[in-house]
Amino acid sequence: KAVVHWFKSDLRLHDNRALSAASQKARDHDIPLIGLYVLSPEDLTAHLASPARVDLTLRTLQQLQRDLNELDIPLHMETVEKRKAVPGRLVTLCQKWGSQHLFGNLEYEVDELRRDARLVRQCAENGIDFEPNHDTCVVTPGLLSSQQDRQYAVYTPWFRSWLAFLKENPDYLEVSEEPGSNPQGARTQLADLFDCKVPAAPSNKQLSNEEKKRFEKMYPAGEHEALQRLEAFLEEKASDYEAMRSMLPGQHTSILSPYFASGALSARTAVMMAKRNNKNRLDQYDSGHISWISEVAWRDFYKHVLVHWPFICMNKCFKPDHTNIDWEYDEDQFQAWADGKTGYPIVDAAMRQLRHSAWMHNRTRMVVSSFLSKDLLIDWRRGERYFMEHLIDGDFASNHGGWGFGSSTGVDPQPYFRIFNPLRQSERFDPEGEYIRYWVPELHDVQGTAIHAPYDRGAGAVAEKNGYPRPVVEHAASREKALERYKRALHG
Ligand code: FAD
Repeated sequence: KAVVHWFKSDLRLHDNRALSAASQKARDHDIPLIGLYVLSPEDLTAHLASPARVDLTLRTLQQLQRDLNELDIPLHMETVEKRKAVPGRLVTLCQKWGSQHLFGNLEYEVDELRRDARLVRQCAENGIDFEPNHDTCVVTPGLLSSQQDRQYAVYTPWFRSWLAFLKENPDYLEVSEEPGSNPQGARTQLADLFDCKVPAAPSNKQLSNEEKKRFEKMYPAGEHEALQRLEAFLEEKASDYEAMRSMLPGQHTSILSPYFASGALSARTAVMMAKRNNKNRLDQYDSGHISWISEVAWRDFYKHVLVHWPFICMNKCFKPDHTNIDWEYDEDQFQAWADGKTGYPIVDAAMRQLRHSAWMHNRTRMVVSSFLSKDLLIDWRRGERYFMEHLIDGDFASNHGGWGFGSSTGVDPQPYFRIFNPLRQSERFDPEGEYIRYWVPELHDVQGTAIHAPYDRGAGAVAEKNGYPRPVVEHAASREKALERYKRALHG
């Protein structure tokens, strides 16, 4: 007999609601706890998981297995090719281990909810008690609504309500207890489960050896690393966050998104620790801490949106009246964007940062998403997809939300007539051009403000000699075209 916790995107012992409940149940019945992880290659393909994201997950599993083993808790991991077969396999494993109790944290995307609905049915048919828990958001979706009893579609009032809720319900920031050790004898009783190997990455999700080493160095896996990063960020950088977070040179943000995405870090812990570091205030004292908390809250906001408007999972934009925008389908321009060869240095630097680091700064995520959808007039969904295929922190809700913002088709977006000017963004957030020079070596020797627009500012000869492309479009003209297309789609 045993209790089983099914790990998904919650790969940690610390502050994991379902794991904690599973451990409690195991203690109550004096039976062992077993950890379970199932990798479905079909699922990873369908959800466009990037090889870097898959690699981080597998490395995190390794760390998780070590931590669980110290508590004499085995982690059984296996590959199940077809995603529809996952619930059935979970039931079979529970039966094999004589378990009537299965725990897991909910994931809110439509496919995941369907999978779990199937699991609930199959468990019920087989006498297994499946307990799904809410864990990934700080405030559970469904608990906040406007005075008209509607779900918020605008961030600012939603955030006010999120803060008020946490003040009234401080237990939502209480971290859950870590699992205790398995009872004596579990190691012998479950001996064969302790030799389990971390599954291999599916063939279409593999990194080269060079990439693997690079990402291991940039993003060491697991919750210990995540908690250390969080502590270091709160001590050293959070106070300056509001003033510095949009600046591109240097590192002024936490780079914790890969850890939220793999589940090595819980958003609740992050907010609780930021609050503690802010003299226990959620809404006053240090504006840097509050500003950071409000960014972590964006992650909750987009997940709430996903729960209330699940149709956004169906390749649809949030605003139905924005479906009719007349997009361009220029493959060469899309490729220039993806390769960082648009002739707009800020855009190119960012796209090259993404290729190299599987991560991109939030400011440039906004710049390149606006550039693709409004300067190149290419369907934002191509960009959304490309991001998922390359980001180490790819997260459906935040990515869809971010693309909806940049392309003005999403929830609480940038109004369509506000179009980022790449030159102004570059001058403002990379004034000395350090970020550009780092990522675009062709422009390394360009001096002064010419770095932002070499062909217009007298550095064309150097740029040309080094093979840096001329701008693929002219911003002012594209802007007019975009305004006209958006207007036509909206007003006929
Ligand atoms: P910090 O500035 O340190 O913020 C802390 C945490 O707050 C982040 O780790 C993240 O969890 C959350 N956060 C911050 N900004 C946002 C935001 N705008 N929306 C939602 N959550 C936020 N974030 C992802 O985690 N995965 C994605 O796939 C993703 N795609 C994006 C696509 C676009 C077009 C845009 C504009 C934004 C996207 N974001 C995404 C949000 C944001 O860019 C990243 O979360 C952030 O850059 C991660 O860096 P950080 O950890 O240093 O953030």
